[in-house]
Amino acid sequence: MYDIAIIGAGPAGSNLARLLAQQTQLKICLIDKRSLQDAQPGIRRKACGGLLSPDAQKMLARQGLTIPVSILEDPQLFSVRTIDFDNRLENHYQRHYLNMNREKFDRFLFHLVPNWVEKKRGVVFDVKKREFHWSLQLRDEGQIQSIQTKVLIAADGANSFLRRTFAPDSPRPQRYISLQKWYPLHDSMPYYTGIFDSNVTDYYSWTIQKDDHLILGTALPLDSPVHERFELLRSRVEAHLEIPLRKEIRTEGAFIERITHINQLLWEKDGIFFVGEAAGAASPTSAEGFSYALQSSFYLADALAGNAKNPARFYKRKCMKIAIKLLAKQVKSPAMYHLGIRKLVMKSKISAISTSLNTGFSKNIND
Ligand SMILES: Cc1cc2nc3c(=O)[nH]c(=O)nc-3n(C[C@H](O)[C@H](O)[C@H](O)COP(=O)(O)OP(=O)(O)OC[C@H]3O[C@@H](n4cnc5c(N)ncnc54)[C@H](O)[C@@H]3O)c2cc1C
Repeated sequence: MYDIAIIGAGPAGSNLARLLAQQTQLKICLIDKRSLQDAQPGIRRKACGGLLSPDAQKMLARQGLTIPVSILEDPQLFSVRTIDFDNRLENHYQRHYLNMNREKFDRFLFHLVPNWVEKKRGVVFDVKKREFHWSLQLRDEGQIQSIQTKVLIAADGANSFLRRTFAPDSPRPQRYISLQKWYPLHDSMPYYTGIFDSNVTDYYSWTIQKDDHLILGTALPLDSPVHERFELLRSRVEAHLEIPLRKEIRTEGAFIERITHINQLLWEKDGIFFVGEAAGAASPTSAEGFSYALQSSFYLADALAGNAKNPARFYKRKCMKIAIKLLAKQVKSPAMYHLGIRKLVMKSKISAISTSLNTGFSKNIND
């Protein structure tokens, strides 16, 4: 019987396991369907931009962590180019990201988990609540294993299996499907591009250089014709940036959940604790989620490490800080997602309205 089982070894789950192992003597099990122990060429990868925002860097710093050069990718990005196809405007502004290899980042955090935490590979496909514990079943290459745990943590990301199973009636964030394609790149594009085009999506699209490749990605409403919309985006970006985007070498997809109201955040229910994206904690304006995964796991470790009489109440109270940050992002959201307001912001250079749209300069497309 484990004291704590953590489902999911993404940034939230691995960080939580590391902190709990450092702060307690609890018997902990960390489970993921991906093999994070070693690099495995050709395996399915998590679709991600791999940009570590200033907030996420701050969270790592607060926990005494830094990023090894070996997981960074060229170029390092401190310029964001915003292209607004709706208003035919574009601008650049400064923001310091670390440009990383996402798979290596996950493995880096996973390897920081001390080896007295038991790490298991497998898909958790069945969870039952018993009188005083949880009983889980996981499958790996046809083998089924059962484990029992006193405390259950959902760190299983967007579209969380545990959230769907145990909180089907709780308000859910709006779901998008993200599609990313990788293309060979011969020129340098030393900026992160945020692209707004309401003919493609009511969210946004992006390009990010990764060494000699360019990622073109977008987040599309679930019911949209995904391939048609992507093709429209690809042709517009190709023409506007004047770079060939013809032969993709890789395609990736994932769910993105976008909160439209903070009541869609779920930190605890019936004894299950939710962290990171399983809780709904990701920016509704940019889909950035590493900082919230690192912050919520930091708070949950504090709650479970014996510092609280009532861990659920303690954790929820701490997470109010995250809820307030996300609420502030929602308030700023019209500056990015309302066509008219975005036009005003981009033209007027009102940097206080939105850190994501403040302006170094703005110019009309085709000027
Ligand atoms: C296309 C895209 C681009 C993004 N770009 C960025 C970016 O540049 N910067 C940023 O900060 N954020 C970005 N995000 C968001 C970021 O990826 C997430 O917020 C972050 O990964 C959340 O971490 P997590 O640990 O909560 O969940 P995840 O990283 O999703 O980890 C969940 C883990 O659970 C495992 N799992 C799931 N179900 C099961 C199961 N049933 N059994 C066993 N294991 C299971 C998965 O294998 C996975 O390892 C992006 C998201 C998408 C989709």
